[in-house]
Amino acid sequence: MNTQPPLGISFEFFPPNTDLGREKLGAVRDALAARQPRFFSVTYGAGGSTQARTFDTVEAVRRSGTTTAPHLSCIGSDKASLRELLHTYRDKGIDSLVALRGDLPSGMGGAGELRHANELVEFIRAETGDHFEIAVAAYPEAHPQAPSFERDLENFVRKVKAGADLAITQYFFNADAYFHFVERVRAMGVDTPIVPGIMPITNYTKLARFSDACGADIPRWIRKQLEAFGDDSESIQAFGTEVVSRLCQRLLDGGAPGLHFYTLNQSIPVLRILDNLR
Ligand code: FAD
Repeated sequence: MNTQPPLGISFEFFPPNTDLGREKLGAVRDALAARQPRFFSVTYGAGGSTQARTFDTVEAVRRSGTTTAPHLSCIGSDKASLRELLHTYRDKGIDSLVALRGDLPSGMGGAGELRHANELVEFIRAETGDHFEIAVAAYPEAHPQAPSFERDLENFVRKVKAGADLAITQYFFNADAYFHFVERVRAMGVDTPIVPGIMPITNYTKLARFSDACGADIPRWIRKQLEAFGDDSESIQAFGTEVVSRLCQRLLDGGAPGLHFYTLNQSIPVLRILDNLR
């Protein structure tokens, strides 16, 4: 596999919806900031459903002095509101974005004016030129709605060629899926960095639910071992830390340019993994 230029680590937050959640996130952010991430990213609910909370979280992280990359999804939004948000972020000095299609909850309005992430990337470039560094999503195990792996690769390449600077993957537990994906898209002319998205394992029920929804495969040996631990959360966390640390080390040793952690607004599971890496 080609070695990609080093990008370091980044951390993803979701926007909290309570005062306690906001307070806790401040402490989590401080603990993770000590590891000098390239950026903190903040998720965004499709159709603008978390717009105000995403914006407030982005502002809180930005004020603390670390680079912030808001996520922006296009499904269910019109161009006028996306344009306004882009200009607001630009005026606030934000210069990184994660551009996504998003998933519209059932029963929530129409698809909007931009149907796929490649159209959003084109729109951002048309509106704001090269101001933003744009990251897009990648799916080493294929997006769950993709008609085929090949079609998904073609759609990914189209999205990158629309003007993305880097990609962050959906989480996975099989390093070979990542290496295979990178090899395939390199052969299709994509040379942008592809950063593995890493999900710490802390709670089996939640992990299984997320994974079913987003199409991430939990290998049988991991699933069986986690099931066997039942309610023993200490054993789940110890096993999870070991499995995910080994995955991260293998990815970095194989040339991954960095790691993007889905923190779920918790610092300790991520810090334990980072402490295990060479
Ligand atoms: P797309 O790239 O548009 O792909 C979606 C599907 O459409 C794929 O099956 C693809 O093959 C197909 N496709 C793509 N382009 C075309 C085209 N031009 N014509 C026909 N088919 C096409 N969701 C949120 O709501 N908020 C977030 O903050 C958020 N953050 C995320 C961060 C990361 C790093 C990742 C990996 C995912 C995130 N998601 C988020 C989830 C994401 O929105 C969903 O996975 C969504 O279903 C797809 O988004 P996308 O940007 O990959 O879409």
